[in-house]
Amino acid sequence: MKILVINSGSSSIKYKFFDMPRNKLLTCGKIEHIGEEGSDIINHYTGLKLILGKIDSVDAVGHRVVHGAETFKKPVIVDDSVIKKIKQCCSIAPLHNPANLAGILACNKLLAGVKQVAVFDTAFHQTIPDYAYIYGLPYEFYTKFNIRKYGFHGTSHEYVAHEAAHILKKPIDKLKVITCHLGNGCSICAVDKGKSVDTSMGFTPLEGLVMGTRCGDVDPALITHIMRKKRLDMHEMDNLLNKASGLKGISGISNDMRILETKANSGDMRARLARDIFAYRIRKYIGAYITVMSGCDCLVFTGGIGENQATIRKKITKNLFNHFRKSPKILVIPTNEELMIAKQTFKLIKG
Ligand code: ADP
Repeated sequence: MKILVINSGSSSIKYKFFDMPRNKLLTCGKIEHIGEEGSDIINHYTGLKLILGKIDSVDAVGHRVVHGAETFKKPVIVDDSVIKKIKQCCSIAPLHNPANLAGILACNKLLAGVKQVAVFDTAFHQTIPDYAYIYGLPYEFYTKFNIRKYGFHGTSHEYVAHEAAHILKKPIDKLKVITCHLGNGCSICAVDKGKSVDTSMGFTPLEGLVMGTRCGDVDPALITHIMRKKRLDMHEMDNLLNKASGLKGISGISNDMRILETKANSGDMRARLARDIFAYRIRKYIGAYITVMSGCDCLVFTGGIGENQATIRKKITKNLFNHFRKSPKILVIPTNEELMIAKQTFKLIKG
């Protein structure tokens, strides 16, 4: 079965075309500048048409959808009611879900009759217990406005946790795994017996670890304090937390950890600090998740930093497991969210 996996963003569509169940990547690519001034690609429909011109005989499509709220706990075959529900999730994911939906609607038109599956970034975390996903806010904020921890990068955490079990030759339901997805966006997940029991990202991807340009956890009282002090409006404040903070904001140099490593090694104090804060926050979360699961058999690193930067991994793991009788295995596993989406699409369609 030939499966096209689509990751549709606001101005781009990334795609990978697989032959399943052989897990064989046939081709991949990216269409950019959708809807931008001066671009020939006026919308997602035109973008998808270009992609379909490069590949033949699509049997099914798997879509990455960022937010499934509490509605979607696993992948689903797309129909009108699913489209309606994904639309409803747009209010809590206004930056991502409309673009994901645009990809689905374009496929509906261009590939009429071809089955489509939606795979949600949040779905894997739907097993997190209520005491871990409810915030310390008035309870009505959860019941009335759906405000709770959702978590993201679910497809990646699930994929690498399963790969870890495969590498260790142990059934996943016998393992306690901590997965660290460290890319531009970073999150960490406690996977107990194959199920997510806690994760660092929250209602939005801003919570948790220090990331490329996102601040991660801060004192929430700082938001109003900074807005008052710097006279920022909501949009400017949002921008500060999401785009000007994290590694970029601390170092004043870059959000790219490779550049920061080089600068830190040549004595730049703020690059060193950014790197140290990054590693320290991850260590702290690992400690918390060992407690959450009463142990850990395996720690997995993935994402651009997790896969490629051994010095950062070393910084995070130095003496980390000294108090363990048997140290957990530390694995580096390249993530492959698209393959996971292709696998889930195949599984669902094959029934
Ligand atoms: P995204 O979250 O955008 O997918 P990536 O997973 O590509 O991001 O990770 C980007 C981060 O990984 C950057 O901080 C970059 O410096 C770091 N990195 C380190 N080595 C590499 C590499 N060989 N290729 C890509 N990114 C790398």
